[in-house]
Amino acid sequence: MIYAVIALLGLIFGSFMNVLIYRIPRGESIVSPASHCPKCNKKLSWYSNIPIVSFILQRGRCRNCGESISIRYPIVELLTSLVFVLIFLQSGGTVESIKYCVMAFLLMAAAFTDLFTSQDAENFPEGGVIPDIYSVGGVLIAYIWAFYDGNLYDSLAGSGTGVFILLIPAVLYQLIRKREGLGLGDIFLMGMVGSFLGSYAVVWVLCAASIIGLVIGFGVLLKTKERNYRLPFAPMIAAGSLLYIFMEL
Ligand SMILES: [Zn+2]
Repeated sequence: MIYAVIALLGLIFGSFMNVLIYRIPRGESIVSPASHCPKCNKKLSWYSNIPIVSFILQRGRCRNCGESISIRYPIVELLTSLVFVLIFLQSGGTVESIKYCVMAFLLMAAAFTDLFTSQDAENFPEGGVIPDIYSVGGVLIAYIWAFYDGNLYDSLAGSGTGVFILLIPAVLYQLIRKREGLGLGDIFLMGMVGSFLGSYAVVWVLCAASIIGLVIGFGVLLKTKERNYRLPFAPMIAAGSLLYIFMEL
């Protein structure tokens, strides 16, 4: 019963995440205007705005103009729901689960924003965008939580480790290849991971993220033969962190 409630909450938060993913990198307000079709601008009624259900009932099309709705929306909703349920299952439904859900939400929002903007060269010619609001907000939440838990030191040290562990390869890459490999957004995001999970986890997450990145990068290289393709790194950081939560906690 409790897991059904968490799954439902996950869908609702996933739906909110879709709004953030689309609007924050475009500098739009997240409260107004209400959700609307990007093609015909028709405002969505409440029954067109139910996570997953509306997408299935409308067969992935706008009720008004018939424009197809990206499969990304239900995927983000389902993944958020799945991650929330797994976190609660894994951590036994303690109050800590809420902290990890907050972290997972911010990480996934940053990762999907990075992934989708990096594939949208028309609107984002500079490449993937990672809004700093997620990292900065996350670090503050982690510090406050750690302060009340009495382990603020671990959280501070973790965020420092996260920043420095990526700062070094970022600077080296810049010096050797004369172009940016890792952005400040990636560095801040790793700082946030450290503030929630501590220094040891940062090392674990970096290794996992690098392995995932190498495998995917190699796949992209084989498929496109594009040697200068810049792989968005935030999704690897998010995947590595979620793996850590599921396996190590
Ligand atoms: Zn429409």
